[in-house]
Amino acid sequence: PADRTAQHTTSIWVEFTTLAAETKAVNLGQGFPDSPAPKFVTDILEDLSKHPELTAAHQYTRGYGHPMLVDILAKMYSHFYNVQVDPMNEVLVTVGAYLSLYYAFLGWVNKGDEVLIIEPAYDCYYPQVKFAGGVPVPVVMNLQKGATSASQFTIDFADMESKINEKTKMLVINNPHNPTGKLFSRQELEKLAELAKKHNLIVIADEVYEFHVWDKNDMIRFASLPGMYERTISIGSAGKAFSVTGWKLGWAVGPKQLLEPLKAIHQNCVFTCSTPTQMAIAEAFRLDWPKFLNDPKNSYLATGLSGELRDKRDKLAKMLEEGNFRPIIPDAGYFMLADYSHLKEELNLAKEKDPDDFVFSRWLCREKKLAVIPPSAFYSDRENKDKNSNMVRLCYFKKNETLDAAEVILKKLG
Ligand code: PMP
Ligand code: GLN
Repeated sequence: PADRTAQHTTSIWVEFTTLAAETKAVNLGQGFPDSPAPKFVTDILEDLSKHPELTAAHQYTRGYGHPMLVDILAKMYSHFYNVQVDPMNEVLVTVGAYLSLYYAFLGWVNKGDEVLIIEPAYDCYYPQVKFAGGVPVPVVMNLQKGATSASQFTIDFADMESKINEKTKMLVINNPHNPTGKLFSRQELEKLAELAKKHNLIVIADEVYEFHVWDKNDMIRFASLPGMYERTISIGSAGKAFSVTGWKLGWAVGPKQLLEPLKAIHQNCVFTCSTPTQMAIAEAFRLDWPKFLNDPKNSYLATGLSGELRDKRDKLAKMLEEGNFRPIIPDAGYFMLADYSHLKEELNLAKEKDPDDFVFSRWLCREKKLAVIPPSAFYSDRENKDKNSNMVRLCYFKKNETLDAAEVILKKLG
């Protein structure tokens, strides 16, 4: 195999999604909703499928994104960023947010370039930067002892700045944050913006959970901060926005010159994404967007999604407390961390080569039939993995029956 894959290890998604299926566990692991997708979205796709004669819906479409989809995305992000986003040059549609991220690293990182990654971090950033020949530089967030809120994860900005040198090219920000559920405040984002400006960094803003906030006004998109649009590649996901993760459609939005290298890769690797799903997502946004702006109570993206999520978050937090876990309450997103220290002592599970949360998560899945994700996977170095192996990550975007089944298991553990 090529050297770039030599140090590859199995990702948590491969291991824990397989284990959850094999053990038929109640699955609060991988982040996807298990309730029906919004009908107004699947109806659009159904309608397209009923018209085989509509060749425009079933054959290849424009490579950089279906005109209908880039059009509505440009309209929405022009509003969010308060700049004029040009649909033909400043939006690129990709296979999931994963590929937008990968193109951004491949397109901008040269061998030896350093990329600042705020940890815990979504686990694909680190390997993607390495595949691109770059050097990931972790900046680990602090968490106060006994913390009960995701907002208590904080960045040490002096530490971050001390890691910046002439090789530092890029900063990755994930907001709302996976796995903590932290929603970055304006003040925090402004500090990051200040560093980006001072050190001339390109910013990757992974905002796939941008609509998963309790109040639509709570979400501050990085590219909306003064002077930041010019240096930011913002990344979104239709799978997340409309709760259809299996559709695997994402996008990158940014100035033409920043997207150019991403397009160079896309045109030769994928060329064009699936047409009917792009059309259906475009239509779903077109239907929801006027409501998002003027009638939020009836908008899926403004209130439908978050209303459902917030209730589920509260339900899971209560269940975890009943089970004697200490939940860290998230302010956004799909996920919640919870401390299981008391069980760690009681169970005294044998040490393995992997961090303790891996051992515990495997035990929980095999023996108690509850699938979760070990958050130490979101740290890169061994010391930080071990320091952060007292928690599990749970996805609460699950139907009530799934949460109820998890509750029975958690209660028995309590
Ligand atoms: N970034 C983050 C933070 C994620 O949680 C995910 C998983 N949805 C992705 C990117 C990838 O999204 P997609 O499924 O659209 O590829
Ligand atoms: N992003 C989702 C999560 O964090 C899904 C992961 C995946 O499919 N690789 O659970």
